[in-house]
Order: sequence, then C-alpha cells, then structure tokens
Amino acid sequence: MRIKVLTIFPEMFSVLTQYGVISRAIKERVIDFKAINLRDFTSDRHHTTDDYPYGGGSGLVMKVEPFLKAYEEIIENEGKPHVIMTSPQGKLFNNEKALELSKKKSILFLCGRYEGIDERVMNIVDEELSIGDFVLSGGELPSMVMIESILRFVPGVIGDMESVEKDSFFNGLLDYPHYTRPREIKGMKVPDVLLNGNHEEIELFRRMESLKRTLLRRPDLFLKHELDKMDKKALLQLFRELIDNVE
Ligand code: SAM
Repeated sequence: MRIKVLTIFPEMFSVLTQYGVISRAIKERVIDFKAINLRDFTSDRHHTTDDYPYGGGSGLVMKVEPFLKAYEEIIENEGKPHVIMTSPQGKLFNNEKALELSKKKSILFLCGRYEGIDERVMNIVDEELSIGDFVLSGGELPSMVMIESILRFVPGVIGDMESVEKDSFFNGLLDYPHYTRPREIKGMKVPDVLLNGNHEEIELFRRMESLKRTLLRRPDLFLKHELDKMDKKALLQLFRELIDNVE
C-alpha cells in the first residue's frame, strides 16, 4: 500500500516514521509512505504556497498550483491515488472508514493550513474527511491520525490481527477492560474470573463487560449492535448478577 501526504511541514510526519508499529512497517517496506513538501512544487524564488483571499477578509489561503502540480506528477509516475482532503467540514472519519480505506492501493492526503485550501483543489479530491467537530491549525495531525488508524488494518503492520479485531468498534462494541500483574495493588484486585483458567468463563465475562461499557458509555452503538448468541448469554448473566446484587 502506498500513502502520500502533501504538506508544507513534511518533518511533522517523523511522528509516524520514527515511532511505534507504523515506523516498523515503513522501515520493513510493508507500506510505502512519503510526506511530500508542497514547496517543491512552487515556481517562485520564495517557494510561496499561500496568498491573500479574493474578496478580502482575514487570513491566507493555500494556493492551488502546488497541489495540482504535485498531483499530476504522482499520477504520471504511479497512477491515480485516492485523494483525501483533510477538513473540519468533511464527513466524520471512523473505524469503518479506516477499514474501507485500508483496502485502497494508493492514498494521497492533502493538508491545509491558514483558512484552508483554494476551493478549486476540490476538483482532484475523492472525499473530504474530518477527525471531529473542532478546528486544528493544519491537516498534518488529522492525516496522521487517519493514517495510523488505516494502517492498523493493513496485514503485516500489527503482528497480531486478532488483537486489532478485538479492539473497540470492530464488532460494534467497546473493548473489555484489561489487567496485568500484579494481582493486587493497594487493595485493588484483578477480577477472580480472569485467574481461574476457565476460558469459556473468561470469554463470557469479557463479553459481559464489553456490553456493559457500550450500553453505559455509548448507548448509540449499543442500540445499533446486533446481538449474537454469546451476547445474549452474556446479557443474561449480567441481569442475573444485577438481580443478585439487588437481593
Ligand atoms: N477555515 C476552515 C473552516 O473553518 O472550515 C478551517 C481551516 S483550518 C484552520 C486549516 C486546515 O486544518 C484545514 O484546511 C484542514 O486541512 C485542517 N483541519 C482543521 N481541523 C480539522 C479537522 N477537524 N479534521 C480534519 N482536518 C482539519
């Protein structure tokens, strides 16, 4: 898979290229990643990438030409990528979108700054994505957030795909709580069921916790979730425990 980013701050992407599982995947060439400096696609002495807005008003706007030139060069060398515009006005990015994008062969992210990018750049954009209802100063952090989340689904990036599939949202529920050693600290104990070695009971307990958390923290997700056999068994157990507590 190929991922490219057009930005005036390519150095910021060292967060991806130098740390954690993503950097390892880049070094081992599981993915081909490049942050491209937009200034390399300017033709003036000062490598200008922004200008004043037509119609007046505050702030600067990113110029259209460097984006188009860089895009045309990428197409010439490698074919057409799937182009994503980072924008607070875009569709909200989520886990489902990350999974969908992880199947693309080549993605290009466009990073705005200032007031944003000249609207005519939208002619090369396939989709506009936002990471939340708030405004950041640039598209670099949003692209990194999306790239990291997309790449977790690319085979070979995370060693154990099973762990990715058990994470929150994958099956429509939030993840269950995790514990490691010590068994007890300052009176806080690991739940007994996790220590008894009975895998069926452990699985049921974890599912129950997942359902409970989702119901309490994200009722919107809970209502959309289709209950399977294990969910029903876990809910029954949960109700039994609640009734026992009331009694
Ligand atoms: N004037 C724009 C507006 O109000 O919609 C905001 C521009 S913002 C200061 C500059 C750039 O940061 C945007 O062009 C986009 O690339 C990026 N950006 C800011 N917030 C974002 C978000 N929530 N999701 C994705 N990208 C974002």
